[in-house]
Amino acid sequence: RARNLHKAAKQVVTEFAGKFPRSRIELQTLCGVGRSTAAAIAAFCFDARETILDGNVKRVLCRLLALDGDIANKKFEEELWCIADALLPQDAADMPAYIQGLMDMGATVCKRSKPVCSVCPMNDICLARAQDRITELPRKKTAVMVKNLSLFWLVLRNRDGAVFLHKRPAKGIWGGLWCVPCVDSLAALYKLATQFGLTAEDLSEGAEISHRLTHRQLCIVPFAAQIGGQPIKSSEVTGEWVLPDNLAAYGIPKPLHDYLNAVQSSLF
Ligand code: SF4
Repeated sequence: RARNLHKAAKQVVTEFAGKFPRSRIELQTLCGVGRSTAAAIAAFCFDARETILDGNVKRVLCRLLALDGDIANKKFEEELWCIADALLPQDAADMPAYIQGLMDMGATVCKRSKPVCSVCPMNDICLARAQDRITELPRKKTAVMVKNLSLFWLVLRNRDGAVFLHKRPAKGIWGGLWCVPCVDSLAALYKLATQFGLTAEDLSEGAEISHRLTHRQLCIVPFAAQIGGQPIKSSEVTGEWVLPDNLAAYGIPKPLHDYLNAVQSSLF
């Protein structure tokens, strides 16, 4: 998000001559701004008659109108955009309050589980309520295909207690974040360790870490080792030795952050 925000700020300067765009279409061209976010900005800031359609709003519409399409289905999503558009207030000045109301409805009243229908301002026209279908709507998304992936971390520390981190490529898992050297097989890990003058016997295997990404179930096995004397440089992996006090200045993946916190006392 921070990277997108920075890119979007640059876009405003270079592509919009420093003037913040006002239309939903233009806002959508900014990095990290999708259709719904662009619509929210346009409606809140510029009274544009544009609808949002995040997960909460989809749920409210599906229940209110007893729509039982699959919300992960693109065609059904297009139908929802059309319905949401048709429901917009005529007076553009009402847009900020309308959008805020819609967001609040989904977040605090028509909640995923246990919607508070008794205080819902639409309870007398809600079709899902009339048809006793609240729990089944919206229809469950088609399950996302999740692949299992094994990763092996080489967690190196030097005599000063610094950990070796390298910046991951921009694309792929943890793109652009700082991480310990990470490979996808034990053989590759041992090969990598030799780059730092280590053998398999020097490595101490830690407990497996499970971590779920949107389309991946990661099983991470950390192997830790201490390097004495001067930090050894690998010819294959470039990076930096980072002292514990300086770790906060580096963007590191959540499971690594948790791991380093958990082992901090023994590691440093
Ligand atoms: S009546 Fe209940 S299910 Fe229907 S829109 Fe209101 S909170 Fe949601």
